Amino acid sequence: GSNTDFILAVENLTVSFDGFKAVDDLSFYVDKNEIRVVIGPNGAGKTTVLDLICGRTKATEGSIRFRNKELTRLKEHAIVKAGVGRKFQNPSIYTDLTVFENLEISYPSGRSVLGSLVFKRDPSVIEAIEQTAERIFLTEQLHTQADLLSHGQKQWLEIGMLLIQKPELLMLDEPVAGMSVTERQQTAILLREIAKEHTMIVIEHDMQFVAEIADKVTVLHQGKILAEGSPEKVKNDPKVIEVYLGH
Ligand code: ADP
Repeated sequence: GSNTDFILAVENLTVSFDGFKAVDDLSFYVDKNEIRVVIGPNGAGKTTVLDLICGRTKATEGSIRFRNKELTRLKEHAIVKAGVGRKFQNPSIYTDLTVFENLEISYPSGRSVLGSLVFKRDPSVIEAIEQTAERIFLTEQLHTQADLLSHGQKQWLEIGMLLIQKPELLMLDEPVAGMSVTERQQTAILLREIAKEHTMIVIEHDMQFVAEIADKVTVLHQGKILAEGSPEKVKNDPKVIEVYLGH
């Protein structure tokens, strides 16, 4: 996109681990309501880029600006507060709690895990929980213990736990890993729906899924951008083909 409507600007980002540059002078821009997919062979630096954006890892050099706010030196909780949410590959849901309760504890200023015994629920919170459950296809499972959900449903629940916090930017690490074909298709629909209100950065390997969801693909290799563009364009890029064949 143009340089005026981006929501995230990553510029000259570098991180070294004992002299090894896992991310090397990386610059990219993500537009508002874009789904950006990051692909690349193992060790390319994909996870490290998300770690840098969410503040889990600190950059050696460079800057990360989100809605013109410099995130680079902020602590993780301040970055969450600035509107950046992250879902890791393995669902970190509370398996003993129901879908409803998992969403409830994720609601900003909702009930804490140890919540009070005498607790009166706010109707607007209940409404937000029910709406979120519907979006993630779990209305019928609202009062089911999370442990009893399928693997795919657990992944959706975790996306719901992020969504209910209303982050402007959602970062997802391999959201369809281990999902059935039907669940993948539903997830593609879910992500396209979410992109109407949010911006997303997704790490993904499944090229068919990438083609379904991505507005733009960034291909990383050795901490640098190897190619960037539409899924079709990067898929046919000789440099990209070569890197993937070489692995
Ligand atoms: P990807 O997600 O693309 O598979 P990563 O971002 O996990 O790649 O890793 C990129 C490179 O950085 C790898 O060579 C990895 O071993 C290295 N790396 C990642 N995190 C650390 C760390 N905390 N300390 C040392 N090396 C790291």
